Amino acid sequence: MGMSRDLVYAARLLLEAERILIFTGAGISTESGIPDFRGTDGIWTKLSPEDFQLDRYVRDPKARIRAWQTRFPKMFGNAQPNAAHEAVVDLWKAGKLLGCVTQNIDGLHQAAGLPQDLMAELHGNGDGIACLQCGKEYDPVEIEARWVNGDLDPHCDECGGILKSTIVFFGEVLPQRELLRAEQWAHEADAVISVGSSLSVYPAAYIPLEIASRGEVFIIINNSPTDLDSLASLRLDGMAGTVLPQLVNAIVA
Ligand code: NAD
Repeated sequence: MGMSRDLVYAARLLLEAERILIFTGAGISTESGIPDFRGTDGIWTKLSPEDFQLDRYVRDPKARIRAWQTRFPKMFGNAQPNAAHEAVVDLWKAGKLLGCVTQNIDGLHQAAGLPQDLMAELHGNGDGIACLQCGKEYDPVEIEARWVNGDLDPHCDECGGILKSTIVFFGEVLPQRELLRAEQWAHEADAVISVGSSLSVYPAAYIPLEIASRGEVFIIINNSPTDLDSLASLRLDGMAGTVLPQLVNAIVA
């Protein structure tokens, strides 16, 4: 089967691009078996979003106990990167990737082989655990061992503060280093491809918005409409794991 007309056009739009920013959302990981945010099988059909609100977490030990129950033994089971994550790596190896800005916390871009310094994880990472009061960072293995042994609401051994996963909760500020790196890339990019994001969560969505506003190429790959469709140079409707590899193959070949 040949490439669709839209795909040929997308490849042509990206022909001259040398500093492509990839922006990803939960939709790039659904084909790895991790449910997205708002779908019918979405995460919030299983978890209570209130438990992931910072003030509730701080206030209510029961919310913390429930949150840790989703963290251990393994937040994302044995999810493996899929063809879309691998295509981002291919783009990097072809020398055309400026950086990858993600809203995901699953670490699958790095698992596919993308170096950490090419990542901006705007919503944190499910791997880390830190004290909310003094900032001390913990080895998750240590906290899991405490949790398994019955410490269901672990606190800091230095200051007694509440421990929390380094995932960004609702009502929490974004990690500044990651945000600054993403903003820097947004100034430098000569094209942006958004993959599997509803483009409805801010400030994250400012990153592609900023690049599009400068008049650079803005391609959206998603299987449903997004909030920024009207600003896109082109929308490719379909599955991330199919469409992104096709597009990357077309431009690195
Ligand atoms: P979202 O759920 O708002 O949007 C995901 C979009 O991807 C939807 O429009 C959906 O139609 C589309 N989609 C789903 N599967 C797809 C596929 N295989 N191919 C193409 N499109 C597909 O997600 P968002 O924009 O990332 O924002 C949601 C928030 O949820 C973020 O804050 C993020 O931190 C968090 N989150 C992360 C993960 C993860 O780390 N994997 C999972 C769930 C939620």
